[in-house]
Amino acid sequence: MSANSLPEDTASWHSLEVNKALNLLDTNADSGLTTENVQERLQKYGDNELKESNGRSSWEILLDQFKNIMLLMLIAVALISGFLDFMAWQAGELKPGEVPFKDTIAIMAIVILNGILGYVQETRAEQALAALKKMTSPLVRVLRNSKLMEIAAKELVPGDVILLEAGMQIAADGRLIEQSNLQVRESALTGEAEAVSKQANLILPEETSLGDRLNLVFQGTEVVQGRAKVLVTNTGMQTELGKIATMLQSVENEPTPLQQRMTQLGNVLVTGSLVLVAIVVVGGIIQARGFGNFRELLEVSLSMAVAVVPEGLPAVITVTLALGTQRMVRHNALIRKLPAVETLGSVTTICSDKTGTLTQNKMVVQSVCANNHVFRVTGEGYNPIGDFLLDSQTIDVEDYPEISALLLASAVCNDAVLQKEKGEWAILGDPTEGALVTVAGKAGIEKDQWNSKLPRIAEFPFDSERKRMSVICQVEEVATGEASLRAVDPVIASFIQSQPYLMFTKGSPELTLARCTQIHLGNNFVPFTDEQRAQILAENDRMASLGLRVLGLAYKPMLEIPEEGSHEISEVNLIWLGLIGMLDAPRPEVKAAVEESRNAGIRPIMITGDHQLTARAIAIDLGIAQEGDRVLTGQELQQMSDQDLDQQVDLVSIYARVSPEHKLRIVQGLQRRGRCVAMTGDGVNDAPALKQADIGIAMGITGTDVSKEASDMVLLDDNFTTIVAATKEGRVVYTNIRRFIKYILGSNVGEVLTIAAAPLLGLGGVPLTPLQILWMNLVTDGLPALALAVEPPEADVMKRPPFSPHESIFARGLGSYIIRIGIIFAIISIILMLWAYNHCKIPVEGLDPERWKTMVFTSLCVAQMGHAIAIRSNNKLTIEMNPFSNMFVLGAVVVTTILQLMLIYVEPLRAFFGTHWLPPTELAICFGFSALMFVWIELEKLFFRFTGRRTV
Ligand code: ATP
Repeated sequence: MSANSLPEDTASWHSLEVNKALNLLDTNADSGLTTENVQERLQKYGDNELKESNGRSSWEILLDQFKNIMLLMLIAVALISGFLDFMAWQAGELKPGEVPFKDTIAIMAIVILNGILGYVQETRAEQALAALKKMTSPLVRVLRNSKLMEIAAKELVPGDVILLEAGMQIAADGRLIEQSNLQVRESALTGEAEAVSKQANLILPEETSLGDRLNLVFQGTEVVQGRAKVLVTNTGMQTELGKIATMLQSVENEPTPLQQRMTQLGNVLVTGSLVLVAIVVVGGIIQARGFGNFRELLEVSLSMAVAVVPEGLPAVITVTLALGTQRMVRHNALIRKLPAVETLGSVTTICSDKTGTLTQNKMVVQSVCANNHVFRVTGEGYNPIGDFLLDSQTIDVEDYPEISALLLASAVCNDAVLQKEKGEWAILGDPTEGALVTVAGKAGIEKDQWNSKLPRIAEFPFDSERKRMSVICQVEEVATGEASLRAVDPVIASFIQSQPYLMFTKGSPELTLARCTQIHLGNNFVPFTDEQRAQILAENDRMASLGLRVLGLAYKPMLEIPEEGSHEISEVNLIWLGLIGMLDAPRPEVKAAVEESRNAGIRPIMITGDHQLTARAIAIDLGIAQEGDRVLTGQELQQMSDQDLDQQVDLVSIYARVSPEHKLRIVQGLQRRGRCVAMTGDGVNDAPALKQADIGIAMGITGTDVSKEASDMVLLDDNFTTIVAATKEGRVVYTNIRRFIKYILGSNVGEVLTIAAAPLLGLGGVPLTPLQILWMNLVTDGLPALALAVEPPEADVMKRPPFSPHESIFARGLGSYIIRIGIIFAIISIILMLWAYNHCKIPVEGLDPERWKTMVFTSLCVAQMGHAIAIRSNNKLTIEMNPFSNMFVLGAVVVTTILQLMLIYVEPLRAFFGTHWLPPTELAICFGFSALMFVWIELEKLFFRFTGRRTV
């Protein structure tokens, strides 16, 4: 059948035999599709992608923007102001040339603009996060042109043959060709949390429901255990998940804690301003002994209401968080959930895996121990060329059959593939297993050859809980085969004649040894003595204390194929073969990162499945622990109560031989002690710990899809250093957000007080119109605030302890700063206002007596320029800083000042904004008063420096 006549949507793949399904899709289980087939099918079926929907329509997202209390207040102000203008227009009170409804139109324009901006930001943020998530979209192992390769999931087509293993998210719907112990969690599709056991050899009735189609796997579900070979039957929107579009995973766009606090702040500001308005109106009425000035009071109230709303703040916060995620991705830290950007700044403890994160995950076997001999192995990387040395002498492997037996086991009990890529030897699969295939190759034992001589017919896959794996191979045919096993090992060969199957087991030496009753010595095997066991354990400790990862290997002849899942009863009475020790060197850059995190008050902790001595050697090398520090093992942890654990968590920096479930307990223990925990993980079973941690971190390269899905952040380079860099970025973002909140809200408080003062001091008229206030809040405050958002980190950002994640945004003096600076701001403006009011009353030819209002408006704006420059540092005086280190602030100050001057001196703008022309002397006075703001903040810094108080 040609590709063009493929069944479009055969709903009953589960009722077909595997061969029938393979024929229907015109493919082959051993060689897969050819490149031409794939091209044709890609054309026909398109990419294997789901079109995501987020559940809310565009209209709903847009409407949601207007549910904000501050925007609602602005709408109310616009309507009242429009009503007042209408009355004035009717009464013919408008001045010649004055545009009616100017304030209403401007406020409504701002409201709509804010809504649209919010909408664009929200959808953009969703798209950006979705795009980031795609960067970690799963790779799939596929068989094409008889070769195993890794491709992006979206390149899959019906007819592809893919391989699944534990931790993978299934990328398309498919029919099982073969499977071993396959357990799949299908909750994404069926809602059922329990994993389902799948079987390739079933043929099910057509009417079988989705949840019971045990010979099929479905896109979006997760392999919890085991492995399988699968024929892809449907891709993209044709899959079961694709068909139920409403159930597609949407990109979560939770408001960050900061955004939530900003909403609360909005409520406080609105309530506060309403109270103030009430005071001013009541005070004004009492002062005037009647309602004579009610209209003026109403205008003052409107201005105050506009002044109190920090219109520019939400946009600046969103931009800052977005810029933060971009900077982090440049450092290889990919943020999957926006709140993580803020939380990172508060991290106090980083719990890191060892393998791959602290070390390079490039394993090279250094020693092999069998039959009481320790052989050193030479050679580099995954190049299968090297020598075996005994007592510094190169030996001929054939003279030592125990090495061959051990290495045969390590090559057969192995899923890695060693291959040459662009002239370099590389592995596909787990580096630990890659090192074993490589060392076997050095002894002339080629995994591929032995895979066909000893075909695998069953297995108990590796699992970090059991810390071992076993394969069961058929050996009957080999006995008569051309390359007899006898050549490799006469002892193994002798079993072949009597028993048809061999099981090879490898795993953590202690656990594997505990399951052995005999030991393979030379050409023979004998029951274990206690002394032999003690010797092996001593050698294991010796290798581990050199920082080597050590594996133990064993085998056992078998009469029958064991049942699936029966590892507990099958992996017993094993025959011990020996130990293999491999080096996984620490990443050279990690030592400095560990020190940097310590200086920043962040404690690094190593959590590893490896042996305690291996863990300790590497932890000491990296500075994570010191000689004599306690190492807590998974076993000890298991016996501890939560209370005991809580006593220890602040003291222990190395956890060894732990299982994923222990990781969860460690995070919980640390959190009970009030720590803010970042935790790394890569396996399926790490997902609960990643979810529990304040920042769950998955590995981009080696991590399973399941762990990535559970994480807040993904390390694209699997490197510990990246976590430290991300915490630094988190601190910078948080500090900058606090900085511009101080800046914007300080100004708002100053504006409101100044406006409120005018009627209370008996000055006729409102100093600032709503339009002018909007101008200030959005332009003259907004631009410098955006520039402050990209302020580079202060030198001490990683030399101070982290901020508490539970602290309020107003903690550490931020709230009092806003009030204090707001009052100073208001005092300066009010003094200027009083002076200007009296000064402008003196009639001068060509000058408007109302121009005192423009003087107040100008000095409020210009004072904010000084504020922006001074607030760049909390502790350093401006003259101590490099003015060019944030060119944006300099640029924003210059541009904003020019714009402000244009409002006074360019005729059409002056008319529109209702300002008045100011003579140069009066402008200079405004600048003079404004400069006082800058002077005040600098004096404050000096004061805090001398009194030893630190403001952050
Ligand atoms: P870390 O937590 O530092 O990253 P790890 O995740 O590599 O360490 P595991 O992969 O859980 O730890 O391995 C735990 C132990 O299981 C190892 O120390 C080793 O003894 C054994 N082991 C690891 N990989 C295999 C494997 N492929 N086959 C058999 N045993 C293995």
